Amino acid sequence: MKILWHDGYHNTKWIATETVGFHPDTLEPVKYTFKPTPTNRISKDKLRRTEVQDISTNSIFRGVKTIWDIEDCIERFWNRLNPLPTAWRGASIVKVLRVECLCKKCVKRMDNKGRGE
Ligand SMILES: [Zn+2]
Repeated sequence: MKILWHDGYHNTKWIATETVGFHPDTLEPVKYTFKPTPTNRISKDKLRRTEVQDISTNSIFRGVKTIWDIEDCIERFWNRLNPLPTAWRGASIVKVLRVECLCKKCVKRMDNKGRGE
């Protein structure tokens, strides 16, 4: 999939996203409590969640064309889980901190950075 990033178009279907959640009334950060999986990690302080996702098969990303579309899809999904007339709100307000492209070029660049090259 051709996605517009800050530095131009990338051809990718894999992305990594980092999100945080806030309690809707107190605005206190919400700690994640799920068990980490290979595609779904939480930071040591349990405040940040990093998830690897396939935007070509996950229907919440249908029609995305830019990194901002990806951010919007994630926030829309988590913050508007329930139909409006039910008045049920999500348990937390989710904010996307980062979206990383995991195309071959970007992964290679990240690998090189990790080795200090
Ligand atoms: Zn890329």
